Amino acid sequence: MVVPYHAEPATDFTKEENKKAFREALEQAKNDFGVERPIIVGGEHIETEDKITSYNPSDKEQVIGHVSKATVKHIDQAMEAAEEAFESWSEWDPKERAELFIRVAAIIRRRKHEFSALMVHEAGKPWNEADGDTNEGIDFIEYYARSMMELADGKPTLDREGEHNRYFYQPMGPGVTITPWNFPFAIMTGTTVAPVIAGNTVLLKPARDTPLIAYKLMEVLEEAGLPKGVVNFVPGDASVIGDYMVDHHKTHFITFTGSKATGLRINERAAVVQEGQDFLKRVITEMGGKDTIIVDKDADLDLAADAIVNSAFGFSGQKCSAGSRAVIHKDVYDEVLKKSIELTEELTVGNPVDETYMGPVISKKQFDTISEYIEIGKEEGVLKIGGEVDDSKGYFIQPTIFADLDPKARIMQEEIFGPVVAFAKAEDFDEMLKIANNTEYGLTGAVITNTREHWHIACRKFNVGNLYLNRGCTSAVVGYHPFGGFKMSGTDQKTGSPDYLLNFLEQKVVSEMF
Ligand code: ADP
Repeated sequence: MVVPYHAEPATDFTKEENKKAFREALEQAKNDFGVERPIIVGGEHIETEDKITSYNPSDKEQVIGHVSKATVKHIDQAMEAAEEAFESWSEWDPKERAELFIRVAAIIRRRKHEFSALMVHEAGKPWNEADGDTNEGIDFIEYYARSMMELADGKPTLDREGEHNRYFYQPMGPGVTITPWNFPFAIMTGTTVAPVIAGNTVLLKPARDTPLIAYKLMEVLEEAGLPKGVVNFVPGDASVIGDYMVDHHKTHFITFTGSKATGLRINERAAVVQEGQDFLKRVITEMGGKDTIIVDKDADLDLAADAIVNSAFGFSGQKCSAGSRAVIHKDVYDEVLKKSIELTEELTVGNPVDETYMGPVISKKQFDTISEYIEIGKEEGVLKIGGEVDDSKGYFIQPTIFADLDPKARIMQEEIFGPVVAFAKAEDFDEMLKIANNTEYGLTGAVITNTREHWHIACRKFNVGNLYLNRGCTSAVVGYHPFGGFKMSGTDQKTGSPDYLLNFLEQKVVSEMF
């Protein structure tokens, strides 16, 4: 009997033994710096001349490693391998597929710090964020494995006299998983294993900034005995293979997490039926947010400031769920702003190896974009704290608060994906809700209030996929907070939900007359 799902507990880094173990893992990870990893097509490890080099964002000259680059030729080969593997993988008993993945989760759990430590170096994640990322990856595997077990026999349908009906699920074929750098293990793992546990096969294209942590998943899949060709590892230039993978006539589904621009492009391209394609592609996208915390006049103001600061600055604001707007009742605005500034003053920024609260941002590209938004913020609002940027060694940006924004200001509307939060004042709860809903996104939000009626109104009117009461708007946990957004945040197929695997399954009905 499989034990019920529960979320993987966070490592308690206040305990000296855990600290020591993690420091050792951080040192150990350095032994692999400079490593060269292949692409994997149909189980074959292939080295290419041209490579992606992964750098440490805290120390931009430091090479973490190199990964071979797939070309369109490799995509064709991988698609063929995935198609061939599908023939037998889709015939496995779904419960046996799920059991194999429970083994995958067990192996990762045993090597947990190794994965998290690599993310500290490769993604600039602080310890707790890296630990959370690994844990969430394990959670996705455990959760989807159980989900498949529950779906294995289909769902009941009615019989009539002389007629027996069955309703069950079957996988679709090969598909494509395109993953981001911000949850380089968790999202990459979740969006790879979900279609695979469902019986499909996948071409995995990890983000170019974090290919090495993705390769670690491949190592474990091989160790656990996943048949060749079920997951094909094809890092490469998005400009070379991105459209090609999406357009491919054998691609049955695309699961994508990343920017709105790329998500929209994928959605549009996938709608075109290619020569040789006799099915419609399914697209699952998660494209970001402009997430708001609203603070009511009777709220617990310490809790409000804590929620705002941690939602804005955890992992340097590089989460789709990051709270980048604080909309506050005029009676408590000054107080919440003051408390938030005080909390921000205590935050440490630097190489997360040294246990800082915030590390760097991921890349030069992100550093430049966020720096530009800071300049825009200076024009649009009042800079209260932060605003300094420094890329002399790594891509460091101080946690930054802007006050007194117009609700339509650019930094109130556009996704920044960095440690920048904008404060706006509102007359009453109605106006707060209006402002909260005034962006094109609809991912997460939080309400800090002690007025129950206001919470009830927010539950109906605050138009986001994930709404929280009296806490921050980040840190969704698989199986507890199914995650995904409305509007331009994506297609709202909630990850970590009981429905997620259905995105990768066809529903079949078999009706027999006696
Ligand atoms: P970010 O700016 O956060 O990296 P992107 O949307 O550019 O966001 O990237 C997210 C993922 O999508 C990455 O793995 C990237 O390589 C991939 N990608 C970018 N452009 C395309 C494209 N045209 N087709 C498919 N994948 C793409």
